[in-house]
Order: sequence, then C-alpha cells, then structure tokens
Amino acid sequence: MIVRRPLAFFLLLVLVPGSLPAQTAGQPSVFGYADFSKQAKIEARFLAVPEAKLAGEELKTLTAVPHMAATPEDRKTADYVAQKFRAAGLDTEIVPYNVLMNQPKVVHVEAYNAAGHLLMTGPAREEVPGDPFEDNPRVVMPFNGSSGSGDVTGEVVYANYGRLEDFDQLAAQHVDLHGKIVIVRYGANFRGVKVYIAEQRGAIGVIIYSDPQDDGYYKGDAYPLGPWRPDTGVQRGSVQYLFKYPGDPETPGVASTPDLPDSSRVSPDGNQPHIISIPLSYRDASPILQALKGPGVPQGWQGALPFRYHLGPGGVKVHLVSQQDYQRRTIWDVIGKVKGTELPDEWVVAGNHRDAWVYGAVDPNSGTATMLEAVHGIGDLLHQGWRPKRTMIFASWDAEEEGLIGSTEWVEQHAKALENAVIYINVDVGVAGPNFSAAAVPSLKQFIREVTRSVPSPLGSTVYDVWRNARAEGNEHRPSNSPPDGDARVGDLGSGSDFTPFLQHVGVPSTDIGSGGAYGVYHSVFDNYAWFTMNADPHFVYLQEMARVFGLEALRMADTDVLPYDYVTYARDISSYLDTAKRKAADAKLGAIDFGPAEAAANRFASAAQRVRGMQLAPTGDEAKLNLALRETETALISPAGLPNRPWYRHTIYAPGEYTGYAAVVIPGVTEAIEAKDAGRTSQQLTVLTQALDRAAQTLGSVQ
Ligand SMILES: [Zn+2]
Repeated sequence: MIVRRPLAFFLLLVLVPGSLPAQTAGQPSVFGYADFSKQAKIEARFLAVPEAKLAGEELKTLTAVPHMAATPEDRKTADYVAQKFRAAGLDTEIVPYNVLMNQPKVVHVEAYNAAGHLLMTGPAREEVPGDPFEDNPRVVMPFNGSSGSGDVTGEVVYANYGRLEDFDQLAAQHVDLHGKIVIVRYGANFRGVKVYIAEQRGAIGVIIYSDPQDDGYYKGDAYPLGPWRPDTGVQRGSVQYLFKYPGDPETPGVASTPDLPDSSRVSPDGNQPHIISIPLSYRDASPILQALKGPGVPQGWQGALPFRYHLGPGGVKVHLVSQQDYQRRTIWDVIGKVKGTELPDEWVVAGNHRDAWVYGAVDPNSGTATMLEAVHGIGDLLHQGWRPKRTMIFASWDAEEEGLIGSTEWVEQHAKALENAVIYINVDVGVAGPNFSAAAVPSLKQFIREVTRSVPSPLGSTVYDVWRNARAEGNEHRPSNSPPDGDARVGDLGSGSDFTPFLQHVGVPSTDIGSGGAYGVYHSVFDNYAWFTMNADPHFVYLQEMARVFGLEALRMADTDVLPYDYVTYARDISSYLDTAKRKAADAKLGAIDFGPAEAAANRFASAAQRVRGMQLAPTGDEAKLNLALRETETALISPAGLPNRPWYRHTIYAPGEYTGYAAVVIPGVTEAIEAKDAGRTSQQLTVLTQALDRAAQTLGSVQ
C-alpha cells in the first residue's frame, strides 16, 4: 500500500524555504478574506517556523515512558505541554477532571482442549527481538478500558469481526451464544460494538484478537522487519459504549469538575458492558482458534492463520479472569489561550489528545508534536506583536483512549460558550506515514482543501496536489458518504476521536486531519519512538507538514473576515443522503414513507446557501450579522431531543453508528430507523430532520 520515498526527504530540505512565499502570496484570493495580501504575509511567517527536528525532539520527550491517563507520567506530559504553551505566549492552565476509569489488576486467559489439556495461558508479554522499549515495567498489561470484572469459563464461538451481520449469520446457522465466550477479530467496527452485540446475544465473555490478515504478516513484514503487527503485539482499547455517550460514564451532559457532588453523578451502566472482554495477540489466540470445532467458517471469515477456521462451539474451553480496579481518577487537560482582539467570544479551538495506552508514538503523540510545532509557529507571530482577531484555544486532551473523556468533560463545561466557537480542529493519529487525509463537516471541506493548497508537501508541490492525486483507496482515514466529485476526498466525521463532543453534542463545525501509512502496531507497546523513526517518518518531515496544516487552519480561521463555511456543498451532501435513505427505505419495503417534506426543506436550505454564497464572496470587512447567521446555521442542525435512545448525540446529520462506532452514520435518526425496519420511527425522524433543515434554511436566509 505504501511506497517509501527516502530521497524526497532530502529534497524537502532544499525546497521548502524558497517555496513558501510563492505558495501563499501567489494566491489571488482566499474564500472569506476581503484582501488576502496582508494575511498571506502572516501565513508565510507562520509556515516558516515549524521545524522537523524540533518536532522529532518533542515526540521523543513525550514518548520516553508509558503515560496512560491518570498516571504520574501522564501528569508529567501535561506539565511539559503546558511549559511549551507558556513559552509560546499562550495563557495556559492545567484543568483537572475527576472521572471513573478502570485500570487492570488481573487479566488472565487459559484454554483447554476437549481432553482437558492446557493449550495456552496468556496474555503473553509483548516482545520482539531488539525493541528498546518493551521491557519498561510501567507498560500496562493488555486490557480493555471499560471491561467488566469477572471469572468465567465456557465453550467458544468465533464471530469474525463481530459486526451485526456476523452475529446475524451465526443466528441463521443456529449457533447459540448464551453462556458462550465469543472470540472476534479486530477490524471493521469499533471494539465496543463487538462487545455490545455479544452481550445482547447472551455471551458471558469476549476475546478480541488481532488477526494477521488485518494488520500483521499478511499485509507485509512485521515489526521489527517492517511496520506490521508482530505475533505478540496486542491492541489495547476501550470497549465503552461511546455510541451511547462518550466521556465520564457517570456524568453524561455534565462536566466532572473536582467539586461536582456525588448527587450529580449517575450509574455508569448506560455506557459500559457488563461482561468481560480481553484483547489478545494472534500468538495467544491461535491455539484457541486451531482447536475450535464445529462447522467451517464462511469464506470471508477465514483469517490468515495457517489452518482452517471453525465456528465452534466444541473442541476448546476457555477460562477468562478480569479484575478491574474502577476508581474516580484525576485527569488533566492543558488549555492554552490567546484572546482575540476584535471578536474575543468567537473561539477557534484546536486540539489533540496526549494520553496513550503505552508510549503512543503515532497515537496520539505524533499529533501532539504536530500541535506543539503549530503552537511554536503561532508563538513566533505573538512574539513579533501579532494578535488574532478571534480567540485561539489550543487543547491537549487527557483520557481520550478511555472514551474521549478529557475533551467531552471540557465541552460539557463550556457548552454555552461553544455556541460561538467557529471551528474545532482535531488531530489524533497525526503521522503514521506519508498519506495526507482529512475529514470535515461539508461546510469545511473546501476550507481544508484551500488550506492544504498553501502548505508544501515533502514530496514536492503542495499537500493538496499530492492528496488529490493519491489513490482514493487507503487514503481516507474516515470514509465519505458523498459521491466522488473529482476533487480531493474529505471524509465524514463519525467518532473515535475528540471532535465528537464538539460536533455531535454542541454543533461546532469540525475537521480532523492525519497522515496515514502502513501502521500495524496501533495500541501496542510497539507504537514507540523506535517504530516511528523506522517506519512512519524518519526525518519528521511529515510532522512538520502536519504542524503547518493544523496551525494554518487555526490561523486562517482566526483572522477571516467572513466565515468560509460552504453551505452549498452541505446542502448538496444532505440531499444525496436523503436520496440514499429513500432507496434504502424502498429496499426495506417499509411502505409509504413521505420523503417529500424533508426533500423540500433540503431544497430551501440549498437555495438559501446559494444566495448567501454571493455575500460571502464579496466581503466588505463588516460581516458581524452574516457571520452570526453562518455560525448559527450549524447549531440549527442540532436537535434538542437528541437521537432516539441516545439523547447525548444531538446532531441531525452526523453521528457514530450504533453498530459501527467509528464510521459516521449520516442523517442518523432516519437511517437507523430504516435499518431497524421501523416505519413509524422513520417518519417521525424525517419530521425531526425536516424541522432542523427548515431552521437551518431560515437562519441562513435571515441575512438576505
Ligand atoms: Zn488516539
């Protein structure tokens, strides 16, 4: 999938300084600016600052030791980031929250064959020849965040990826899951969804393992020879039901500030599994799968281990022990601000999580180094006397891995003020390789493309050119639900990172960027500095590239005259989602469902967007009323009642799928009602959507 081009790194060193002014000042106009010439000079000064070498040093410091959320080492990384923010001139504070999280005391798996002979015990230690980081005693044992505690023994059933259709296929083959331990492979959906469905179907425990077909030797050489997962590598991760609500499980909708009384907390039952789940390497999972009897698997279910897989049950029994230490623990967000000179209440928020399951070189600290070098650039401008028009806020989130906790609590605390936030800019997995990708609400697709036109790529030309010319496949870390239009593909925002509370709870227009590549060590001890410099970005030039894109997004939005939201594209995308839903409803034979009112509302929204675009293209410099309407249009798409059965999710156009977790479900109220074959709910959710689109059209139309 990935071709490494080492020569390009050296070319970059020569090309970049000279190419910067031409990239930026050469643009005749930029959407949102009355006169871009002054801003072009500021941007050129910014773009010259982020340094590859410094980004590499920052990454090395951040990933020196394991720094899981709420540990002393995590606190040290908070202090380090705070010190960098302060050095750049940001008004900085470390913000604590008190949140319920588990850490593992005992995680144990043993398997016996039908004759009672021991086949394996685990999880085994993660080890490969020569890795310099694997021996640290602070490496946490493999476990799942939000797992239940328990001690269970049972027969085993293999459920492929643990998708809804996989479980349905088992049911169709009359494989009963009651009292069984389900073994599923990672991939295709969010791990919490696998456990969610297994629990609904009566399973008493879940093993989630990494099949070599999905991120191991089947893809290419395993670490340390290559970037893919070695036999002992385990993917840790949260199994929280974040598609219900993310954040502190005891405080949906409320911030877990240290002074929050117990009476304001609820039972965590609503977003956590009750059964236990344990992650395994394929070395540990292999003897279980090999001993499993029962019918052979359907062809698509066969992984890359060297024997035929069977569904079970029979042939093997597994004993699982999970003792999880649940406590309210202190986590630390780092928040750095620069007050805007003209529009201090309009916030530009840019963030990245800092906590890692282990070292987190790619996930998330390549993103942290990205943010720190962006802040370095903004700091240089501040030291030269520049000030942004709007307030800029940089945020280093904690406890993202456990369930987007640091960002969710902060958003819940500042929900009111965030109604004026003009953008949330996210980076999580900043750099795993050379392939730039982005996801955004449709109103910001053109904005992110325009920003990448101003940033040079280490491969020559601009980030935009390389991105647009890349094969669409393997270049989208978040898939798009819109038809291709020949331009660089911008994905849709589902979940699995910190943009979720901003967009889907309070309606802040959001973007997410990353630079992907062959990355088989996700959430394992091997996602460390040694792996990173060997595989992802040996000369840190992609960290530099991402720092420029991330910082330029913030800078351009902070100073823009007119908010550069493209509602023409938003309306077009919504219409295409309605077309798809209408087809699905017909296929599902739901009977007479009237899409007419929703389609008419989408058309009114499109007309309003078209008229407003004319005003956006001719800014005069006094756009307060226009900007207010532009911003409130996204808020208009928030439904106060939220989605059926998950009121925390309030956006009518985007949500994580209940059965996908990461991937976005578009017009989720309607789409999920159709998938549930519920005609009544489909009609009711179409009404909710119609009202939201009418609110959006009216808000946008109010300035004409
Ligand atoms: Zn992450």
